[in-house]
Amino acid sequence: MSNQKFFPIIGLEVHAELKTKSKMFCSCPNDPFHAEKPNIFTCPVCLGLPGGLPVANQAAIEWTIKLGLALHCQINLCSKFDRKHYFYPDLPKGYQISQYDLPFCHDGYIDTSEGRVRIRRIHLEEDTAKLVHKEVNGIKVSLIDFNRSSVPLVEVVTEPDIQTGTQAKEYAKKLRQTLRFLNIADCDMEQGGMRLEANISLSPKPYNPEQSDFVLPNYKVEVKNINSFRFMEQAVNYELERQAVILNASETPVQETRGWDSVNNKTFSQRTKEDAADYRYFPDPDLPPFQFSVAQIETWRAELPELPEQLLQRWLAEFELAENLGAGFTETPHQAQWWETVMVAAKTAQFDVTKLAKAVINKKISTQPGADPKDICAKFQALATVDEVSDSELETAIATVLTANTDAVTKYRSGKTQIIGFLIGQVTRTLGKKIDPQVIQAALVETLK
Ligand code: ADP
Ligand code: MG
Ligand code: ZN
Repeated sequence: MSNQKFFPIIGLEVHAELKTKSKMFCSCPNDPFHAEKPNIFTCPVCLGLPGGLPVANQAAIEWTIKLGLALHCQINLCSKFDRKHYFYPDLPKGYQISQYDLPFCHDGYIDTSEGRVRIRRIHLEEDTAKLVHKEVNGIKVSLIDFNRSSVPLVEVVTEPDIQTGTQAKEYAKKLRQTLRFLNIADCDMEQGGMRLEANISLSPKPYNPEQSDFVLPNYKVEVKNINSFRFMEQAVNYELERQAVILNASETPVQETRGWDSVNNKTFSQRTKEDAADYRYFPDPDLPPFQFSVAQIETWRAELPELPEQLLQRWLAEFELAENLGAGFTETPHQAQWWETVMVAAKTAQFDVTKLAKAVINKKISTQPGADPKDICAKFQALATVDEVSDSELETAIATVLTANTDAVTKYRSGKTQIIGFLIGQVTRTLGKKIDPQVIQAALVETLK
């Protein structure tokens, strides 16, 4: 068996539920996770009853386009909704209202530390109802909860630019961060508010998007319904290894949909018949197409809040905080706002913000989320008045002091332990640094045992 080198080719499809007040095509509340009971936020439209007429949610469209603008996308000035047909019990109409050839946004990107990941498209669709499999009176049943039916759902699809599991994770985290800074989605992974799908294949040559005749592998494996970033990284890595073994045996991995088994840490086959399903897409005749003006798009662009990339640039300019350090404080807008108040307090006190950031990141200063900036500054000041000392440096100084002060050592050992104060002073002087006396005391006590 030869062991050829293969290059991972990975594309992600990410779904996120938008947190608009009402659902995508009706006025039912959009709050499936807080509903008291199943099927209380429903009406003829989201139940798919005959005669229900959809009306598009304006906020959901505006938010989708703002997401596109935040992710450097082009916006289609002419767009529309299409019907995507398939049968499943969680889809009562027999079709999902989605977008086909004219998504609201296309051709954007997210930069990761391992390179740029191009975004092919962002479209808006409706979520399905939720199937609940359980036992009622000893009988196994599948129940349908329509509270989630027709909740606005954005889908963000990348080009197959991703090359590692860590890059896939970084991309997905940055996407979640953007959704949160725009304040348009909570992205609660556990509840299914954000769902990840990874398309994975291996190529004998590295993917070169610039090379127009580059041929992608003739198969891809799609791992669906991944509900954590860690699981996605693990699933990608597992698939890359599994596929390499197959390719090295001169076979081609089966094109299929697989799931992630987080108990046994492996992917498993779910569906193999993956010839392009015929969804019979066509424009939804109940929903007129949209025409946006450039002025409208520019108005929305001007309304974008400060996003993580810009925030890090500003922190660099205002607080001289390096981007790689600042990034640790931008997971949520909330955390970023808090950190900004800390930096303002630190700057006012003329502290070095970079040193403060490092102290917080390295846990030299203990901070609770949202801790009072004044407390943090006080702790930092206490820390800053103390020099660094290495263990060996301290040991050498203590040995010198003890050798030169045998009387004091004898007194200490005979029970006059208060003499330690004198020894601490001698060690401090020998070191020529300002060290936390408690650190010296502890080391002295240990040595004198
Ligand atoms: P499908 O029609 O099966 O959904 P698409 O061409 O629309 O396939 O691509 C879906 C996702 O799969 C995109 O993110 C795309 O970048 C990615 N993809 C396409 N071909 C490959 C491949 N050979 N290996 C890995 N990912 C791929
Ligand atoms: Mg797909
Ligand atoms: Zn409804």
